[in-house]
Amino acid sequence: MLAGRSVEQWLHTHPLLRDMVALREVTWFNPSLAPAAQALGDAGLGRADVDAAAARLARFAPWLAQTFPDTAAAAGVIESPLRELPEMHDVLQRRYGVRLAGPLWAKLDSHLPVSGSIKARGGVHEVLQHAEALALRAGVLRQTDDYRVLARPAARELFAARRLAVGSTGNLGLSVGIVGAALGLSVTVHMSADAREWKKRRLRERGVTVVEHAADYGDAVREGRRQALQDAACHFVDDERSRELFLGYAVAALRLRGQLDAAGVRVDSRHPLWVYLPCGVGGGPGGVAFGLKLVFGDAVHCVFAEPTHAPCMLLGLHTGLHDAVSVQDFGIDNRTAADGLAVGRASGFVAGAMRRLVDACYTVDDDELFALLALLDWHEGLRLEPSAVAGLCGPARLRPGDAAQPGTHLVWFTGGSMVPADELQSYVQRGRRERQPAARNPGAYWP
Ligand SMILES: *Cc1c(COP(=O)(O)O)cnc(C)c1O
Repeated sequence: MLAGRSVEQWLHTHPLLRDMVALREVTWFNPSLAPAAQALGDAGLGRADVDAAAARLARFAPWLAQTFPDTAAAAGVIESPLRELPEMHDVLQRRYGVRLAGPLWAKLDSHLPVSGSIKARGGVHEVLQHAEALALRAGVLRQTDDYRVLARPAARELFAARRLAVGSTGNLGLSVGIVGAALGLSVTVHMSADAREWKKRRLRERGVTVVEHAADYGDAVREGRRQALQDAACHFVDDERSRELFLGYAVAALRLRGQLDAAGVRVDSRHPLWVYLPCGVGGGPGGVAFGLKLVFGDAVHCVFAEPTHAPCMLLGLHTGLHDAVSVQDFGIDNRTAADGLAVGRASGFVAGAMRRLVDACYTVDDDELFALLALLDWHEGLRLEPSAVAGLCGPARLRPGDAAQPGTHLVWFTGGSMVPADELQSYVQRGRRERQPAARNPGAYWP
């Protein structure tokens, strides 16, 4: 029983769920979508909070530049480039039989410094926020200091006595572990069964304790949270509830405005920006979408992409049950090669924040993820991890009227640059076998 109703009753009143249970690709347009001015308040956060996160990252820039050589060229700013994908624009039109009036762009968070995924935004921000609070309280740092003082013995001693823990499918653990260890904190990462071996290896090489869980992401988080709560000197980075993660992701939007301006991309009501974001528990895409709505208002439309085997956000929003439902409740197995998206239950906080803000959610089959991955490699020379390409078919899911507008389509690529070359090669090979366009039915459901 879910909210007093049987699964049968849910399938009867919400027929889209039947396709989801059958693991068919679906597209859902949010009937509760509201103007940004009304819906932004749902998060309980505002522009001042995002600005504060951006200011914090700026304070840490000297320390970041000194600690992570790959941020030095940008003076310690962890940011990714924008890139137009002209060939993929054609490929999408042909593969899916759609017409896209506007150009296709990509945001390469796959190539973010420090940890090579979108988690280098949220995960890094939360660790820095925590470290800053500790250091300020202990008197080893003032906000006006050059934050490189955090590399000095007084701060190192302080951090050495403190612990950090996180539950993750891989990339969040990688980010939190890398930055936490660089500060000198003792970090424990609880990895779900989906986590790739190389991510665990990289962490152990840096002295991070990796705890492997046989169960999925939700269990890894729950167990990590339980252990951390028993330890007063431990901070738990809570991917299901954290505001600091969310705000770290949101900062991306402030910077994107300048990047789009520099690229000559116009965004206004007659030139809308469509943004396609892979969604796991929701913090990454939710935080970015929140920031985008703050910056661009109703001129931006945010679309979330999930695997057919792990559609937790779509399920939570469509039923209105948010985190009171898991994909397993409907017999969906949460088994997907898109390890970064292998999440069975959405964040309740993010679902609440996105309830009226997200335009649409869709699901994509694992085979199609690999096909897109191989096509992207072939046509644009970009190699990503499977989760990271989930947004790539998003433009094909729009209603024809929206696709015909002279807007811009921005696909958020979320990870891949740190994946070992042989693993990337095996992804591409699997994708090449899937490349033939099949007679596809994306099963669009329009309100
Ligand atoms: C974590 C992750 C996402 C999704 O972020 P959530 O906060 O879990 O929704 C998407 N892509 C990749 C590669 C990720 O690691």
